Amino acid sequence: MGLKPIGLVATAALFAAPLIWLPGIAAGRDLGALFSQYLGMTALIAMATSQVIATRWPGVEGVFGALDQSYRLHKWLGLWALAASFLHDTIDADMRGLGAETALVDAAETAGEISLYGLLLLVVITVATFIPYHLWKWTHRFIGVFFVLSAFHYLFILKPFSNGDPLGLYMGAVCLIGLMAYAYTSAPRGCRPSKPYRIRSLTPEGDALAVTLEPVGKPLRHRAGQFAFISFPELGLTEPHPFTLSQAPDESGALRMTIAPLGDYTIRLMSRLEEGAEARIEGPFGHFGAVKGPQLWVAAGIGITPFAAMAGALQAGDGPVTLLYSVRKRATAAHLSELEAKAASGKFRLVVRETATEGRLTADDVRKLAGDLSGLHVMYCGPAALRDALWEGLKGHGLSARRFRYELFEIRTGIGLKRLLAYLTERRGAVKAR
Ligand SMILES: Cc1cc2nc3c(=O)[nH]c(=O)nc-3n(C[C@H](O)[C@H](O)[C@H](O)COP(=O)(O)OP(=O)(O)OC[C@H]3O[C@@H](n4cnc5c(N)ncnc54)[C@H](O)[C@@H]3O)c2cc1C
Repeated sequence: MGLKPIGLVATAALFAAPLIWLPGIAAGRDLGALFSQYLGMTALIAMATSQVIATRWPGVEGVFGALDQSYRLHKWLGLWALAASFLHDTIDADMRGLGAETALVDAAETAGEISLYGLLLLVVITVATFIPYHLWKWTHRFIGVFFVLSAFHYLFILKPFSNGDPLGLYMGAVCLIGLMAYAYTSAPRGCRPSKPYRIRSLTPEGDALAVTLEPVGKPLRHRAGQFAFISFPELGLTEPHPFTLSQAPDESGALRMTIAPLGDYTIRLMSRLEEGAEARIEGPFGHFGAVKGPQLWVAAGIGITPFAAMAGALQAGDGPVTLLYSVRKRATAAHLSELEAKAASGKFRLVVRETATEGRLTADDVRKLAGDLSGLHVMYCGPAALRDALWEGLKGHGLSARRFRYELFEIRTGIGLKRLLAYLTERRGAVKAR
């Protein structure tokens, strides 16, 4: 469930394309400066591709893979854009004999500088995941402004080819596509394709709230395990948030989302939602879902939602499936009685782990329950720390990365700084102990 190879190949091809024309321009030129210009071009290509991913167009998942993975590529492209812009600024890109320094060229130079420092600031805010999401989201919208400045810089700066040459046309097309994608993502919410729904019922499910929605027009078509973005414009909750569709698709087109009050927005939802209110749904997204053959599904807390849908979609002959559901207390667990009733029909085995009385779930527990891991698919949804612990504890016992799939409920991810820090502290501790 990683990035699709086709997406990676397409991105690599976009980066490599200028190399078709650069050798033809290189004769008699300062090669260091030409390399610096190529770095600048890769920064633009990275920014434009990143803007396209941010549109969440249906084709994005088709080319790059599930949206959470596509967003990882989006983040790394942003980091590359920053690194390449920095190097482009550091390695002198000036060449002799390219023409006169006009006011427009000066403005292009200034635009490039502003864009570099703006990007630096925004990328640092992006990877500093301790900065609250809504602050990050607010600042992140300016990243497109810096892309516009970069495109302006590129178009009007002196360079060893013209905007009408094949390389100029290619880079012009890259800028145009990136700018169109940015305009689309910044357009008012109503301009984005979303489907109208109405809240049919609100049901407490342990600590969470199950929101059942009925379509107002044509319903959304989804597979069990997918998610969608929801907003409630009528209630003043206009920012779309992602939630898993926690019920298997049915004929009526009704959808259900089970929402845990974990932050500002989700806590606000609990008191504001009312039956009959309008909702806008954008999606579906994601490639998480049941596979063929024997499966162990491991859910922790609200991570039960994709499995609640997948359990409802199981057909005779699927699996066999064991669902291990780790809950703090049975009374606070979402969809427990529904799952117990479904498991009683024999479609899957349900094992509930109540951590308040039985202690935290470990990889050893999962290994004991699973028995032979070779040939078994393990699917996980829950906190990242438990995902890492399970993978560490299971990978040496016959589980391959291909057969370990997970959904993390996290779109904004860091660059592993916390893990690096933990590793360095551990190493320092080990050296001291010696
Ligand atoms: C694929 C996916 C499926 C999910 N399914 C469920 C589910 O079934 N049930 C459930 O309770 N939760 C689910 N979540 C998590 C849910 O989206 C967040 O808990 C919710 O958006 C938090 O918003 P908040 O403002 O209340 O919390 P905050 O404390 O402000 O945010 C907590 C974290 O949620 C993420 N987040 C916040 N706002 C957004 C947004 N607009 N878009 C994307 N991410 C955001 C950020 O990573 C942030 O760090 C899912 C998330 C993803 C990515």
